[in-house]
Amino acid sequence: MPPASPERRFTGPPAPRFDIPEADAFTRPYWEAAGRGRLLIRRCRAAGCGLAHHYPREFCPRCWSEDVAWEEASGRATLYTWSVVHVNDLPPFGGRVPYTAAVVDLAEGPRMMTEVVGCEESGLRIGVALAVRFRELEGARPAGEPPLCIPVFGAPLDAGAERVRARGARSSSRLPQGDGDGS
Ligand SMILES: [Zn+2]
Repeated sequence: MPPASPERRFTGPPAPRFDIPEADAFTRPYWEAAGRGRLLIRRCRAAGCGLAHHYPREFCPRCWSEDVAWEEASGRATLYTWSVVHVNDLPPFGGRVPYTAAVVDLAEGPRMMTEVVGCEESGLRIGVALAVRFRELEGARPAGEPPLCIPVFGAPLDAGAERVRARGARSSSRLPQGDGDGS
């Protein structure tokens, strides 16, 4: 018989983190802007195209032009679909469940994978208006360096009651007894 209440804490090196994006020379402007609370997208400048896209690519996904530039997005979006995640073994996500993984349609057109924060699942509807906010990934950067922030979406701040602070916002959604597609 094993002893009662075995201590099963992992005592090796720190667990790796799977929530930290790797910025390269191309995506660095995106992450630097996010650290300042601005969401960037890419827009094609080829004549007759003008498509905005996300995730950032060095060429236009429609016409393949390389004449593509960064542009600040409005931060407005509508909810396309979502799923409440209850299990995620990759650290540190396991400590954040449940959270709402989502796909949103940016006002400029691109569709974006993200997370919805500060909203009860029962209040989510396809097409509901959302606004970007930025979550700082604590401990992702050495002290003194600019914070690393990722875009997440919540209720528009000008919608009144629900003023969720962007920085450091944690998913606080309680789990409704709903019939969501969370699996
Ligand atoms: Zn194009």
